[in-house]
Amino acid sequence: MWLPLSFLALLLLLLFLFDRYCQNNPRKENATLYHLLFEASNDAVFLHDIGGSIVEVNERAVDLLGYTREELLQMSIADLVPTGELRLAGTSQWFDDGVRFETLKKHKDGRLIPVEGSGRHVQMGGKNRILLSLRDITDRKKAEKQLRESEERYRRLVEYSPNAIAVHQEFKVVYVNRALIQLMGAKSADDLLQKSVLDIIHADYREVGIQRARQIYEDGKPAEALEEKIRRLDGTVLDVEISGVPITYQGQPATLVVVRDLTHQKQAEKHRLELMLERERINVLQQFIANASHDLKTPLSTIKLQVFLAQKSPPENLPKIIGKLEAQVLQLEKLVEDLFKMSDLDRNAVTFNFQPLQVNTLLKPLTDAYTSALQEKTITLTLQTDAPLPDVLADQTHLYNALSNILNNAIAYTRGGGKIQIRTRAVQNQVCIEVLDSGIGITPEELPHIFERFYRGDKARSTRGTGLGLSIALKIVEAHHGKIEVESTVGVGSLFRICLPSIH
Ligand code: ADP
Repeated sequence: MWLPLSFLALLLLLLFLFDRYCQNNPRKENATLYHLLFEASNDAVFLHDIGGSIVEVNERAVDLLGYTREELLQMSIADLVPTGELRLAGTSQWFDDGVRFETLKKHKDGRLIPVEGSGRHVQMGGKNRILLSLRDITDRKKAEKQLRESEERYRRLVEYSPNAIAVHQEFKVVYVNRALIQLMGAKSADDLLQKSVLDIIHADYREVGIQRARQIYEDGKPAEALEEKIRRLDGTVLDVEISGVPITYQGQPATLVVVRDLTHQKQAEKHRLELMLERERINVLQQFIANASHDLKTPLSTIKLQVFLAQKSPPENLPKIIGKLEAQVLQLEKLVEDLFKMSDLDRNAVTFNFQPLQVNTLLKPLTDAYTSALQEKTITLTLQTDAPLPDVLADQTHLYNALSNILNNAIAYTRGGGKIQIRTRAVQNQVCIEVLDSGIGITPEELPHIFERFYRGDKARSTRGTGLGLSIALKIVEAHHGKIEVESTVGVGSLFRICLPSIH
């Protein structure tokens, strides 16, 4: 823009000097100099009178419009203006102060040429003239059009993107696309524009949101996609993934935020998890049927046999048979009890009544319950307790049950004449109860499986058991937020350690 103007200024100065020269030296009019001035211009230059009749043009003007110089000198400047365009000719007051403009000029072949120009009123040889300087801006217009088209393409891309997109400046929403309007449950962009993005982000994620926005703004770096939650206009909460990039929006620094709705993904994940759980339940059920049917069938067939024998045997044999029957019935009773307990624990149908408890108080009733079993196998049981111990929060009945299963095993898997020790102690923020036996021990291969339902070690097959004792104990301890650890050496013995968090 400044080039035609500066040239026009120079041209005006030269014309002024030339005019003065001609007035002072009327006989020395120098047509060559006059033309030189015109031809020196890089722009198309027209000189026309107030009525619009062209009185002089330069070579550039001829090139620009495709007419010959002679043709142009026969024309009015108004003939060069396409129909509907602003007619410059005759608007003499326009040029009083020098006017800059952009317009179209008609080429001889009918093409319209975009030009940038400036004009000024001049006095030449005592006559009013208008000096017009025009520059072809076809290339610039083409570049501007391409830029506009590319901007429009990007605008449409963003507007119709399936991802919800917003632009905010200093947390104030300045742009939202269709997907975001829909995602937010808004009627139109107006429901969201000028709102603070912090009102849209769920309260739990506001701090993170502020930090990330600052990071984008201050470091000028994009923020990676992060799972967050947003609140829709109707108050419902959505799981989304948000990422942000710094941009310039309407000349100001801004943040472009892409919001991806994770609802379907989350639902699919939940569905997958439910399917997995369902499969797991079916597996457990199948395993249960396989194990339970075997464990139920064995005592039942023994009972059947003993009943048959009882019918056929002389009366003196009956006490022995009744003893065997009783043992099988007890075994069946234990199995059914354990099955119900396990099923209740699985279904979370067990109510735990947590109370502050001194675990040492459980030991006396526990050992009393096993006195006869211990005597029968001549196993020596000793207690070693730390006192006083911190309390633990426990359900006395269920914790007793877990300890009972472990002690029952210790007795079952320790040979006659062996030893069992029960120790209690406070370890950091926990209270631990250890059951140590000098029994058969557990092989490293068996150790990872002993808490599985119905798992019974090979060596345990000769003993009565359900294979559920340890899985029940583990479930109960976990319900107390505790842990069970096992250390064992084959032929030396095993140590079962239950640790529960203590109350401070
Ligand atoms: P079971 O009714 O068979 O005792 P549990 O679930 O209580 O079922 O124990 C699972 C398996 O762990 C047992 O069959 C046995 O092989 C092993 N086990 C548990 N406690 C001991 C122990 N104190 N000494 C040796 N082996 C043990």
